[in-house]
Amino acid sequence: MNLVLMGLPGAGKGTQAEKIVEKYNIPHISTGDMFRAAIKDGTELGLQAKSFMDKGELVPDEVTIGIVRERLSKDDCNQGFLLDGFPRTVPQAEALEAILTDLEKKIDFVINIEVDSAILLERLTGRRICKDCGATYHLVFNPPSQEGTCDKCGGELYQRADDNAETVGTRLQVNIEQSKPLLDFYQEKGYLRNIDGQQEINKVFGDVEELLGGLK
Ligand code: AMP
Repeated sequence: MNLVLMGLPGAGKGTQAEKIVEKYNIPHISTGDMFRAAIKDGTELGLQAKSFMDKGELVPDEVTIGIVRERLSKDDCNQGFLLDGFPRTVPQAEALEAILTDLEKKIDFVINIEVDSAILLERLTGRRICKDCGATYHLVFNPPSQEGTCDKCGGELYQRADDNAETVGTRLQVNIEQSKPLLDFYQEKGYLRNIDGQQEINKVFGDVEELLGGLK
């Protein structure tokens, strides 16, 4: 089960990714999470990524492609994987095809979660994340029972540096421009499956399960 999950920031990729990896027991490979972990650990990779992320820009391809190649080569990807946040550009998608060919694998589906951009702006600025376990909340749509505290682990909630009102607009715009040719690329390859992301969370996941049922 080799999957790529697509969708603009705030489309619900993180939420659906959690559900997919839990149900199908495959590793969740999120380049954004990998960069954030590297920044937290103060590694060389973190230093390289931070300035781009803080501005809401993409980290350069040579950095990003390198970490994905390394991660996909690990044994836990042999039964499948879920890529989240990668590829973001056609050159990244082409690099992914080459990496997978080297590993004698291929993509089964590119799942694209579709949500209107006006709704995305509202969703993103209200997003809060747990510092300890990474669980996501929304101030209006999915608030924690106690303000500022994670329901799952009691950790402190924070707003991602790139989720503030100034950078969200840039980030959405960058993503809209970059994702169009990528969607066309995967449409042409026959991998693309669009899922309506404006439905209730479990309904979105129901559509994903229906799609993936055919792979089992
Ligand atoms: P995300 O968590 O997927 O929204 O990613 C957060 C930030 O990490 C993005 O705004 C980029 O700066 C960086 N990033 C994540 N994935 C990629 C990628 N595939 N290519 C370039 N930059 C990325």
